[in-house]
Amino acid sequence: MTDTAIIIVAAGRGTRAGGEPKQWRMLGGQSVLGRTVAAFQGAGRVIVVLHPDDMVRGITEFAGKVTLIAGGETRSQSVRNALESIDPNEISRVLIHDGARPLVSPALITRVRAALETAPAAAPAIGVTDALWTGADAKVTGLQPRDGLFRAQTPQGFHFPAILDAHRAHPGGAADDVEVALAAGLDVAIVEGEDDNIKLTWPGDFARAERMLGTGMDIRTGNGYDVHAFTDGDHVMLCGVRVPHSKALLGHSDADVGMHALTDAIYGALAEGDIGRHFPPSDPKWKGAASHIFLTHAAGLARDRGYTISNADVTLVCERPKIGPHAIEMAAELARITGVEPDRISVKATTSERLGFTGREEGIAAIATITLVKP
Ligand code: MG
Repeated sequence: MTDTAIIIVAAGRGTRAGGEPKQWRMLGGQSVLGRTVAAFQGAGRVIVVLHPDDMVRGITEFAGKVTLIAGGETRSQSVRNALESIDPNEISRVLIHDGARPLVSPALITRVRAALETAPAAAPAIGVTDALWTGADAKVTGLQPRDGLFRAQTPQGFHFPAILDAHRAHPGGAADDVEVALAAGLDVAIVEGEDDNIKLTWPGDFARAERMLGTGMDIRTGNGYDVHAFTDGDHVMLCGVRVPHSKALLGHSDADVGMHALTDAIYGALAEGDIGRHFPPSDPKWKGAASHIFLTHAAGLARDRGYTISNADVTLVCERPKIGPHAIEMAAELARITGVEPDRISVKATTSERLGFTGREEGIAAIATITLVKP
């Protein structure tokens, strides 16, 4: 593919997406422009056109990987600068691409290249399917027939001598290189564009791109484990449900071992320590506290950080009391406290076959696993 040059145009100061120029904003841990350059890996010799102020940054990010060219006052001038730098003895095809379209696919690049076998120019586009209106002052003023209308994308591909001549002959100010090619009388073939090949322009475009990359999603798993010993009494609190029993559980709070395990699982997923860090046992104000206070706090912390509870699974380990008859009520109570749908919370139980401290009925153990998701 050494006879192909890729011109990536990134000389604009576009800040409509908010903050710094959009080509330098981070997208899934990589700059937008870095992603765009990577998308053309192996497709030819890459030339990146940068704003003169960005040349040092470009050298830092792309040293040795691409050719850097300083852009001009307008997009057309920037493309022209790149075209003029190309040796016609080495290059026969050029693909010209917006630096702010990092999600271009290998298949789309291949389609554009293939179309250049039979046409001097080829560019991707998507037929307009939405109804089109004209409007003014936030009111619809008329309808615009959409037949024959296309939304233009890049990369736009050309036979090199033809697009160089077209740019040299053009007075400037073209919106894209197809406009320049048409002005020179070149036939431009339309190839099928892609909906995902969006041009990052507005703040919402970055969120959409993150979603498409799947890099915005943060999935976390936490586990919790707790044990409380039996003492004299007539009931135990398990997962927020009062269960009559011939013993009670010993603890600083209400000793709800299941709810403690789930609470610690949430803190664990958030890397926020455990219940003891947030509610120190040394503080008398938590003596005899109802454990839903802890769980409510942990769930609130997760919510404040943008996480939702995808699911939780709590297992109680004891010989007695029998958990089965209460399991659904326990799950419903945990769901109520954490504010999630009941079918996302599981409470189940097992014995330990009369082995160990739980088998000897000296206490109850609980383990919990939780998944938090931030879209
Ligand atoms: Mg505990």
